[in-house]
Amino acid sequence: MATEIDIIMRGPMAFEWARKTLEAMEANSVWPTAVNYELWMYYVAAKDSRIAAEIEQVLKSGAQFTEQVGEEIASRHLPSARLNGEILDAGKNLSAELNTVTRAIETARETSEAFGQQLASASVTLEDKDAGDVRSIVETLSAATRKVREENQVLESQLADTTGELSRLREHLEQVRRDASTDALTMLFNRKAFDEALETACRDAAEQRGIVSLAVIDIDHFKIFNDTWGHQTGDQVIRYVASVIGRMAEGARIAARYGGEEFALIFPGEDRDAAFSVIERARVEISTRILKRRSTNEQLGAITISSGVAETMHGDQPVTLIERADGALYASKRNGRNRTTLADKNSASQGA
Ligand code: C2E
Repeated sequence: MATEIDIIMRGPMAFEWARKTLEAMEANSVWPTAVNYELWMYYVAAKDSRIAAEIEQVLKSGAQFTEQVGEEIASRHLPSARLNGEILDAGKNLSAELNTVTRAIETARETSEAFGQQLASASVTLEDKDAGDVRSIVETLSAATRKVREENQVLESQLADTTGELSRLREHLEQVRRDASTDALTMLFNRKAFDEALETACRDAAEQRGIVSLAVIDIDHFKIFNDTWGHQTGDQVIRYVASVIGRMAEGARIAARYGGEEFALIFPGEDRDAAFSVIERARVEISTRILKRRSTNEQLGAITISSGVAETMHGDQPVTLIERADGALYASKRNGRNRTTLADKNSASQGA
């Protein structure tokens, strides 16, 4: 089923909307990447209120609408906008399949009913007739039996087709669900999936009197780095840091890209000391790796991360846990960066 954006992008006004979208992007110095273009199409043509509100907020603040800003807004809203369309399509396919099966079952039911009636009338006829008439009655019955068998074969093959189509739909929906919770650049969980995972982890911990630790991680001086080496290399650095953090997400841990150059790692059931040592391992690994700019082979200089780690305390909600981990992250930044700080205690790791 076509969504509003599909109708706009493929409708008679498509070129008009595309022109208006590009004009608006140019007027606001927005680079026409695929993600930015899709976002601005939603903003200009489809008037998606959530996307519009976020874009207007960036414009009002006077900040540059960079690729990263676009990606962040997209990670929050585009997956759900796409998801809506995909789910509507899947729903439509599913109803079509169910209609086919319902029709086939109805036909099979009618045929069986007719067969039953033929059997009943044959048995009445048999009582009155002598053996000579039995042959024609048997012929009638075997014709009716053939018809039922044929109908059943059609039904079986339609059911097999439908089962195949349903499992394709299930796989497709599973893929859509995965895409909707994944950050496209890093393949970690996106912000929306992170919010849901933290909510679940905190709720489970509260119900089972357990704990959750949370680490928030930020790449140091990323803006300067991005301005010096360009967005493409900046993206590679984000991918590298994400790959290290992703490797730390063993067992029930969940690694997410929380914002542009910010990441989070949820540790269900683990205390802050365990989380602290994991993040320290990541910090040391990242700070000692020598990254190169791929186009020129130049060394990119030290990449370091600052982090804050907090553990749930009595009555902690996701928002308060994030606040305390964020507070610890800012302490790491204030104290010279390239370090990990535990919330609620002033213990910091060794610096670079
Ligand atoms: P990618 O380029 O897609 O590489 C994925 C993985 O392939 C890397 O994971 C690494 O295991 C392997 N790999 C790729 N190129 C090389 C290579 O030239 N030598 C070796 N030994 N292995 C290679 P890894 O290291 O975790 O990096 C993840 C992502 O981080 C990379 O994805 C890339 O986007 C970024 N990255 C890592 N190192 C560098 C670097 O020195 N320069 C740049 N520009 N990006 C890097």
